[in-house]
Amino acid sequence: MPPSKPVEIEMRDESRWQAVQQRDASMDRRFVYGVLSTGVYCRPSCAARRPLRDNVRFFDEPAAAAAAGLRPCKRCRPLEHWQDDPEIALLLRLCRLVEAEPDRLPDGAALARAAKRDAFQLNRLFKRYLTITPGDYIESVRMRRVRHALRHSASVTDAIYDAGLGSSRGLYERAPASLGMTPREYRSGGEGVAISHATGNTPLGLTCIGATDRGICFLQFGEDREALLALLAGEFPHARLAPMDAAAQSAFDAWMHALNEHLGGRAPDLDLPLDLRGTAFQVRVWNYLRSIPYGTVVSYAEAAAAIDAPRATRALASACARNRIAVLVPCHRVLRGDGGLGGYRWGLPRKRALIDVERSATRRR
Ligand SMILES: [Zn+2]
Repeated sequence: MPPSKPVEIEMRDESRWQAVQQRDASMDRRFVYGVLSTGVYCRPSCAARRPLRDNVRFFDEPAAAAAAGLRPCKRCRPLEHWQDDPEIALLLRLCRLVEAEPDRLPDGAALARAAKRDAFQLNRLFKRYLTITPGDYIESVRMRRVRHALRHSASVTDAIYDAGLGSSRGLYERAPASLGMTPREYRSGGEGVAISHATGNTPLGLTCIGATDRGICFLQFGEDREALLALLAGEFPHARLAPMDAAAQSAFDAWMHALNEHLGGRAPDLDLPLDLRGTAFQVRVWNYLRSIPYGTVVSYAEAAAAIDAPRATRALASACARNRIAVLVPCHRVLRGDGGLGGYRWGLPRKRALIDVERSATRRR
């Protein structure tokens, strides 16, 4: 039993919950609410699906929500409603400054100069409302561009130049910072990360999808729901796991539909949000796998050469074997040098089926 709250706080929370249910815009400047299952905070009138009451906490101002580890919602942008606060106005101005640069991004020092603050003050400002440092913020903008370029460029090399990074080393050095977990996060087995899950049927059998607020971090095939949930818990032993709530269900249905269209050979491009969590090397391999065009295959040696690690064929094969996101991270497109299938975490018949569907769909086009 949680300690009982004073009556006036309970009444205040009750009226705030009503404002959230009514999406009452007149309350936007009065408080924010945090959704524990997604890790974000919103203004009362946010158009996102209403969360479950149990997952909601109320805060008098954005800084209090951030202090609880929550980040501002990208959809309703709660901070925009608090711009009469000079600190928040400054923060938003700096964020826009970063986003406005199409080719190269300013560094923390440039931001500090623009803000007429020292690095320490700037750090505190970003942490106070966004829970991240200015460097993390710049990195997140950079990686958003890299992810976009990776999805829309023909090859990793194109993506590097599209994202204005200049060299593959630059991309791969930066990748682990936001495309994957930090080494500390990785070692802790997903501690503090909330993952919601649901299962559904595909032509390749029962599948379970697990997702963080950033995207899909787990997609695997299995015999039954219990076995799949045990796999998920084994992959993320310290994460907070929960079944998807009603709000996430529509996203899940859309993902399952896209996945089934793809597995049926009707939709080669499968562009779903991913949250790749692994070591720097694993994330590098998985991003490379995502760049292999639909309907084509490469050998482990070719793949190793493509990521500038020609002597790391064995490590590459092991990163493929550790892939947690079947199909979306297409490790099935890597074969043995002699054309043999090699291994597949979810069984060779599934690998064979995936390759066959892609080949015949490509031939039809
Ligand atoms: Zn929101």
